Amino acid sequence: MNHWKNKLDTEKKSLESMERILFNHPELGFKESETRKIILDYLNSNNISIHQDFGLSGFSVQIGQGKPHIGLVAEMDALVVLDHPNAGKDGAAHACGHHLQTTILSHVFKLWNDYQNKPNGTLTCYFIAAEEFVDMDYRLKLQAENQIQLLSGKQNLILMDAFRDVDCFLSVHTMGETKVPSMEVNASLSGFIYKKFHFKGQAAHAAVMPHMGINALNAQILTQNAFALYRETFLEEDRIRLHLITTNGGHSVNSVPSDTILEGYVRSIHPERLLELNQKLNHIAKHCAEALFATVEIEDRMGYMPLIQSRELSDILLPFIEDIIPLNQIVDNQKSFAAGDMGDLSLFKPTIQLGFSGCAGLVHGKNFCMANSEEALVYPAYVLLSGIEEIMRNPIKLESILKYYPSKMSLEDYRKMHNI
Ligand SMILES: [Zn+2]
Repeated sequence: MNHWKNKLDTEKKSLESMERILFNHPELGFKESETRKIILDYLNSNNISIHQDFGLSGFSVQIGQGKPHIGLVAEMDALVVLDHPNAGKDGAAHACGHHLQTTILSHVFKLWNDYQNKPNGTLTCYFIAAEEFVDMDYRLKLQAENQIQLLSGKQNLILMDAFRDVDCFLSVHTMGETKVPSMEVNASLSGFIYKKFHFKGQAAHAAVMPHMGINALNAQILTQNAFALYRETFLEEDRIRLHLITTNGGHSVNSVPSDTILEGYVRSIHPERLLELNQKLNHIAKHCAEALFATVEIEDRMGYMPLIQSRELSDILLPFIEDIIPLNQIVDNQKSFAAGDMGDLSLFKPTIQLGFSGCAGLVHGKNFCMANSEEALVYPAYVLLSGIEEIMRNPIKLESILKYYPSKMSLEDYRKMHNI
């Protein structure tokens, strides 16, 4: 255990008080004005001011100079859980623990700022809006008004090239309720694409002249059967999920359905295969519709890309986790079907999202809350501060990770993927 543990002990009261305040001020994505004020009040009172302001998408603070340049990432938003006892405006509640991230990272940044014996290097902390993929009508309105380009905070910051100089990203996220104190490293998240198939045919009397109609529902059913047959090509390792529902199956039982809608998500843990599979599904739908003389219009909306964490970067942090958590309580290499926009960051730079325990209730549920401040605030802050110091004192470690890091996409390709 190093010097950070003592420093964090003196900050514990402040950590707990900020957690309480933020928990009682939940706000949905791109509406985090109070949250922003609470964080800035804390930072300003510690002589830290904004480095870059990204408007609705968030802001950053920065200290130090030169390389390595570490980016800390904190999510500011809550999500809708109407019956959560702390639900606020819009039914927003911190049921995903993002208020814990902002509390931890504000204090990590403050302690690093106060540290007299800092090695060379730059630390930037990004406080970012809108991670949860919710409140779509509001976000689509902001998009139509050109106030945002994409529907999540990190996606907008990527488009602004806000992370250009950063070498790696460190972040933390609750693991939800655990039986024993625990931390999680190198977990993967899925990516997803929202899909809407609009099948079009020709209406005609369903009993008198079905031969004059073109049945859009039949074209949709043929497509769904073809998807089902195509499932045998899905590889286990890609962890694919394809879940679709019919949101319009026709307008009148007396009439051959002339337009129907099938919508849902395709998910995978593998970025390239997700994009590849998406094209194949579109090919299948197009040809199934054509086979029955119907047509299909396809709307694809990119969700988040899969989160692939950097094993090598996790290994730099692991000894500090082992300082505080027994080996058999450290969860390594979990694969999840959940998604998050940290995945988009991992397309470009080595990325970490450490999981921490100390919460009770169901994640995204009405009873979610912090239960143990040592596990949910102090432990993750300890691992981050120790990790930042380790990376900055031994820059060669990060240099060699970066040398072999397979950047999965250019900014140009990212724009193309989102049709921007
Ligand atoms: Zn979350």
